[in-house]
Amino acid sequence: MNRQQRGVTVWFTGLSGAGKTTIARAVMKELQTTDAKVEILDGDEIRQNLCKGLGFSTVDRQENIRRIGFVANLLTRNGVIVLVSAIAPHLEIRQELRQNIGDFIEVYVNAPLAICEHRDVKGLYKKVRSGLIENFTGIDSGYDVPLQPEVECQTDRETVAQSTNKVLQKLADLGHVRSVVKQLCQVG
Ligand code: ADP
Repeated sequence: MNRQQRGVTVWFTGLSGAGKTTIARAVMKELQTTDAKVEILDGDEIRQNLCKGLGFSTVDRQENIRRIGFVANLLTRNGVIVLVSAIAPHLEIRQELRQNIGDFIEVYVNAPLAICEHRDVKGLYKKVRSGLIENFTGIDSGYDVPLQPEVECQTDRETVAQSTNKVLQKLADLGHVRSVVKQLCQVG
């Protein structure tokens, strides 16, 4: 185990279908080839357990993010690289997470709504358009674009590998991973 590792929360924010889960998993896979301690907190999965029962009203969304932030904070303090994929649509809550957690990297996973809707990975946009889902981020619920994210991945014009490498590079630049990952970055 790498006792030198400084924990950090890497928060992937962006519209549904923008690529948060895909990039977080790819980063995880690369980090698992090293001795880094790494954990993934996937927003969709967490809604099945820790946040089961919470809906998509403003209050429930805030509670959802608050709980994820609480766990991410604990893990970060214990030297883990925590990869969180959860929309966290509002600037204010992301600012609060940053302040509470401290070691915080915001990754804006950016793809135009039309592209996300075209991908429709989980079939959710189709349901929104046919009126089966309400309060959907980017359609009838707001999304605040990050103002100063540490990393921006433009997934409509980058490969998954390019987006992944941007995140790994930032982790290396900020000293959260050792040189073996730096080498991985350069290969990409
Ligand atoms: P989210 O977690 O943001 O809802 P997903 O990761 O589930 O989004 O889906 C994103 C989709 O976009 C996947 O089908 C993925 O293969 C595709 N995609 C294309 N280019 C990229 C990229 N550069 N980064 C991430 N995903 C990408």
